[in-house]
Parts: sequence; C-alpha cells; structure tokens
Amino acid sequence: MLINQSIKELSLLLKKKEISSVDLIKESYSKIEKLDNKLHSFITIRDKNEALKEAEVKDKERKEDSSIIYGLPFSIKDAYCTENFRTTAGNKILDDFIPPYSAAVYKKIIDSGSILIGKNNMDAWGHGGSTENTDYHPACNPWDLERIPGGSSGGSAIAISTRMVPFSIGEDTGGSIRSPSSMCNTSGLKVTYGRVSRLGAIAYASSLDSVGPMAKSVEDLSYLLEIMAGKDSLDSTSSKTKVDRYSQFLGAPIKGKTIGLPKEFFGKGLDPQIKKVLIDATKFFEKLGAKIQEVSLPHFIYGVSIYYLIALSETSSNLGRYDSFRFGGERELFSEETKKRILLGTYALSAGYADKLYKKAQKLRTILIQEYEEALKKCDVILAPVNPSLPSKIGELINDPLKNLMEDLYTGTISLVGAPSLSVPAGFAEGLPVGMQIVGKKFGETELFQLGYLYQQETDWHKRLPPILNI
Ligand code: GLN
Repeated sequence: MLINQSIKELSLLLKKKEISSVDLIKESYSKIEKLDNKLHSFITIRDKNEALKEAEVKDKERKEDSSIIYGLPFSIKDAYCTENFRTTAGNKILDDFIPPYSAAVYKKIIDSGSILIGKNNMDAWGHGGSTENTDYHPACNPWDLERIPGGSSGGSAIAISTRMVPFSIGEDTGGSIRSPSSMCNTSGLKVTYGRVSRLGAIAYASSLDSVGPMAKSVEDLSYLLEIMAGKDSLDSTSSKTKVDRYSQFLGAPIKGKTIGLPKEFFGKGLDPQIKKVLIDATKFFEKLGAKIQEVSLPHFIYGVSIYYLIALSETSSNLGRYDSFRFGGERELFSEETKKRILLGTYALSAGYADKLYKKAQKLRTILIQEYEEALKKCDVILAPVNPSLPSKIGELINDPLKNLMEDLYTGTISLVGAPSLSVPAGFAEGLPVGMQIVGKKFGETELFQLGYLYQQETDWHKRLPPILNI
C-alpha cells in the first residue's frame, strides 16, 4: 500500500522514479471503488480518466525541485470552491453549483502539483460534528460502521484513515477538523484564525472559520501548512505574520517546556476512558523532560453557550445570501438542522434580544481570551481532550440535542480564542480511536508540531489502521 507512506517518502520515491503518480492515482481510486459505498466519505468523485491523464503529464514534467506534494492525490472538504467542479457544502441548495473560481487554499495545493480526487462529505454548511447532517449520505466511521466519524470534516478524515488519499484539506469552525481526526485516528490542525486565507471557503461563521490540513501524521501536516499559510490580499482577515519553515523545527527537544492542564477540562462530563488516555500522554511528555502544570479557565463552562450564540448569529447572516435570487436553489431545501440554526441566530441578533444574547456572548468571548492568555503565562501549551465521549452511534446525537452540543465543549471554546490546536491520535478505548488536542499561542504552530512530532516518533497510535482495510 503506497499511500501508507509519508508525504516526504512518497515525494522521494516519485523523484527517484521508483513509483509514479499514475500508480498513486490508481491506488486511490481502487480504494474508493472498494470502500466508499460503505463509508460515504465523498460527495463528488472526479472522473478517474481525467485524473489519470493529469498524473501522466505530472510524471513527465516532474523536476528535481518540484514541490513535495507534486503529483500526490488529495481530496478536499466540499466546503471549498473548486473552479469548474461541483461544490455543495454538503447541502442540496448548492447541488448543481459549479463555482467560477477556486478557493485560495485549493489553488495553492493545485499550483504545487497535487491531483484532485474528489470533494469530501460534510455536515451541510459545517453544521454539526458527526457528518450525519449532510444532505447526501451520512458518513460512517471506518473503525465501526455503525458509528459517526466525527465532523463536520468527517469525509476528509475517513479518506485519510483508510488511505484513499495521503492528505485532505478540512475546515474547522468549532472543532470540525479536530473531532473527525480524533474519531478516525488521523492528525489534523486547526490553525490560528487568519493563518490561512478563507477566500473561497463557503462561510459558516466568519469570525471562527479556519482552513487547515488533515493527514496521517504531524510531519505531513507541517509540510502542508508551509504551502497553505500566508497573507492573502483578497482576505483582509488573513495575517501578515511570517510563515515558519515548520518542517525544519521537527525533532527539536521539548525539555523544559511546560504543558498546562486546565482543571475545568478534566472534571465532570469527560468519559473516564478518554481522561486516562490523556493522563498517559502527560506521563509520556514528562519522560521527555516537559513539566505538567495545572491551570484554570474559569469561564470555560460557558464556552458552549458562547460558541453557539456567536456561530449561529453569524451563520444566520451568512446564509441569507442563499435566497435563490442571488445564490442557490429553493430555501425549503435547507435541512431541519440548518433552519433551526438560522432561526436561533436570527433571534439572538434581533432588536430587543441582541444586548441580552449576542452582545453578552461577545463580552464573554473577550473574557475567555483574557483567561486563556493568563493561563498561557504559566505554560507553553495546553493539553486538552478533543471530545468528551467516544464516537456515538449514528442517529444518537440527532435524538439527543444536549449531548450533541456538549460534544463541542473542548473544541468550540478554543475556537473562540482563535488559538491553534493540533489533534493527534493518543490511544484507543473500546476499540475506538481517541485523540488529544495540543493547543498553543496564536501563531505558535511550530511549537505544536514540535510536540506532536516527538509524540508520534515514540508512539504508534497514528499508524494503526481501521479494520475495514482487512476486508
Ligand atoms: N460541531 C460544531 C458546530 O456544529 C463545529 C462545526 C465546525 O467546526 N464546522 O457548530
């Protein structure tokens, strides 16, 4: 299985002509043909012959200094505009939408020579954490087909976990890269808000949406972010902060670093099996010379409420454009979940309620940011669970709205702060993958990669493959 190798290894093999891009594309499609009718990780799959033709050209034109991802297959969450290629954001209103332009991040990956295989399944508009709220087929977890793969970038995580593609581009508003990475045993990064251009990303909640890489390992993520990150003059919220050569810092020692454990994150509500996985990870970091320090984020308990007030207010405004005059088809095509979110968001913004709801949530968001900065004076990074519970059975969250909201307890709060967060496989419970978040200072992605990379050098959780691959 070629796609099990790292991006660096694949790139080397391609340059030495020991393998070809045609071989890789064939492997991608044969996996998809064999497995995707069970997993539903794609909404739209690109025509195979077209991809093969592109691979033949890439094989001929490859140069010594071609990008590390040149000629590699990849997939992208269907939340990104892809010129002349259907983009649905997981919902039927955009069922026949063919964008006239490409998202900035997609363009960067294509310009580096990677070959698109298809668009990944997602909760419609990013509304959800399970990839059940898609208007297409609900996606299934490759570790247990009866369970959710996490979401909303669930399709991307499934495709990586089953080695259909070596990497994918996801989107994270309140956990959408981190949760499926954790539930499918893959690695994913929610970048600092503004690190990657959002141009051409179909908006869910504009002050939270972030574009990030998803892959098999932290090493692969570091190469991808080097390509994706940077200022875009067409996205005023993208940052001018210098883009590090992240991959060059991998392997640097972490001795003397302090890892903070927010006491509020490890109390009631967290599955004790997940807690154990995280505590074991702290012991591992201690062995490498890091110090563990308890910290506190007292307003954290309000995180889910603040997140949902702000995200739904913003989504009610963003989705206003899909009125079938300016964009999209009939508004009746909005799903129940999306209608509920538009209504709640509109309510929170309406005259007479905005002060009590939306503006109060904004004030609390500022308090969260201050508390977070205070906590980071005592430590270099924070270690946190990704989800409070193991992947649920498909259908369970739809019937239990409170549990559904609480799934975002540890991810949504961090999104409000705008901080970067790496989700890495950290163990298993009941045969299901469990990830952890390593959360850092704004624009501190290098430090997160350093810690995650060392962890993956010494552990093999991220290398474990789902049982469906043995069929
Ligand atoms: N589950 C969260 C929500 O439904 C986060 C989704 C996301 O990050 N797009 O809002």
